[in-house]
Amino acid sequence: MTRIAFIGLGNMGAPMAGNLVAAGHAVTGFDLAPAAQEAARAAGATIAASAAEAVADAQIVVTMLPAGRHVTAVWEAILPACARGALLIDSSTIDVESARAAHAMAEAAGCLSLDAPVSGGVGGASAGTLTFMAGGSDAAFAAAKPVLEAMGKKVVHCGGPGAGQAAKICNNMILGISMIGVAEAFALGEKLGLSHQALFDVASTSSGQCWSLTTYCPVPGPVPTSPANKGYAPGFAADLMLKDLRLAQAAANASGAATPLGAEAAQLYALFAGQGNGGRDFSAIIEWLRGQAQA
Ligand code: NAD
Repeated sequence: MTRIAFIGLGNMGAPMAGNLVAAGHAVTGFDLAPAAQEAARAAGATIAASAAEAVADAQIVVTMLPAGRHVTAVWEAILPACARGALLIDSSTIDVESARAAHAMAEAAGCLSLDAPVSGGVGGASAGTLTFMAGGSDAAFAAAKPVLEAMGKKVVHCGGPGAGQAAKICNNMILGISMIGVAEAFALGEKLGLSHQALFDVASTSSGQCWSLTTYCPVPGPVPTSPANKGYAPGFAADLMLKDLRLAQAAANASGAATPLGAEAAQLYALFAGQGNGGRDFSAIIEWLRGQAQA
């Protein structure tokens, strides 16, 4: 049993904390939102009065927060209360720069640290099947691995500080671009009189094959479990896709990488989300594309 503090008990954090409890760990949580506190309490966590109180006795601290500014602010607030040698794991999706700043803060306080963002969404958080992509020292990764395995099915050490966030935004840039590509292909196929099933049967076994097609097909029918069959209820909301595409663009600009399709995908998702679609699944962009078509 490990004493774990969990800060940020929202849609992802509460079920992740619940899986740590289910694995036999003692979990003390904190969130600013009473509803999030309640969800974690129902999952078996003890709720502290503040983030600093939650970490006081912890061997491992996990944060699952909206953005980089929340992570650096929370780590700044809790590090003075953390035991020397404690391990801090941030599983939020944040910019690489903030992730590296958080690592530096932890090191200065004599703590181990890991950036370990996830893929798998709320479903994966509940089922304990997340994929973790981790950045940090070998010692931090070794200490974190058993705890991450209680919340996920795959844990990958991607490199040093920030490497987990780098892997996450690169992967999600592929995802955003590939979903637009698949949606464009179905929209073009419709104009050409091609059935959805025929295009799926060909592309899913040909060189157009990809996750956006075979798992998350943006038209109803060929993949019965995809959000297209449920009115595009998320799933993975367009607002979150836009957030990740913007993080990828910020990293591309800072590092000088050329990502013209990533930039275009960010613009298209900004237009789509800006028209009231931010809460819909990101595969619903096919409906927006159809709306752009010439009559
Ligand atoms: P969420 O908004 O449901 O949860 C975030 C929680 O952080 C909220 O409950 C909020 O009250 C809390 N919070 C904010 N500031 C705080 C502070 N100073 N102290 C304590 N609590 C604070 O978001 P989520 O969907 O759980 O996502 C969390 C992170 O995981 C984000 O970075 C997101 O990009 C990433 N992520 C989400 C998904 C998904 O499908 N939802 C998938 C992969 C990654």
